[in-house]
Amino acid sequence: MLELKNVETYYGNIKALKGISLFVGDGEIITLIGANGAGKSTTLMTICGITPARIGDILFEKKSIRSLEPNRIVSLGISQVPEGRRIFPLLTVAENLDMGAFLRNDRAEIQKDLDYVFTLFPILKKRIHQQGGTLSGGEQQMLAISRALMSKPRLLLLDEPSLGLAPLAVQQIFQMIQKINSENKTTILLVEQNAFMALKVAHRGYVMENGTITLEGPAVDLLKDERIKRAYLGL
Ligand code: ATP
Repeated sequence: MLELKNVETYYGNIKALKGISLFVGDGEIITLIGANGAGKSTTLMTICGITPARIGDILFEKKSIRSLEPNRIVSLGISQVPEGRRIFPLLTVAENLDMGAFLRNDRAEIQKDLDYVFTLFPILKKRIHQQGGTLSGGEQQMLAISRALMSKPRLLLLDEPSLGLAPLAVQQIFQMIQKINSENKTTILLVEQNAFMALKVAHRGYVMENGTITLEGPAVDLLKDERIKRAYLGL
């Protein structure tokens, strides 16, 4: 579904991605793990066209999206949930969800997707008229994911969905990630600091260090890898 070929991304003169190659197959959950500053968020923002690649190519369903504007990339079926649950705090839950469907005009389908996010996260239905900023951290993350789902993505990019959440909310978010993948047939690229949980739900994983990919493989193998255990799992 998605392929990055030797992608290099810069912030001014600083090379943040130094030739990243990876692929995400249709229906997979792929996780990108690594320390702070390794380049994980930059990889997601490069895919979305927010910090465009200077070198290399990005193919979505075999077509290059490297030079497309972010809104065009969303309309092709890629949606990102950025780090830090950036919902609109002064808008209600309903209005936040409406914003997610901004590029769509298929009313009946939008209603179906709204019903789906309310079955995934029933608490959001209860809070539908509440301002986003008044929700708990876990609920805001649910809203951020739901808002992204309202654009009906085929590929969902999640940046640190568990960051700053209480342990119970973390468990819940990872369960929902698996559910969205299996029930809703949404392919997922998941960036996480919580390497253990991420590798538990993912099919395959990539390890990033200092702007490059240093290790990749099936998640079950990475969980057993001594280097990963030492560096990322605290074992
Ligand atoms: P984190 O988990 O801390 O977000 P990360 O793996 O997602 O880490 P990135 O945020 O992609 O890493 O950062 C990769 C590199 O690019 C880092 O060296 C970072 O300092 C640098 N960087 C990120 N954003 C910018 C920016 N807006 N301007 C300049 N340098 C940046």
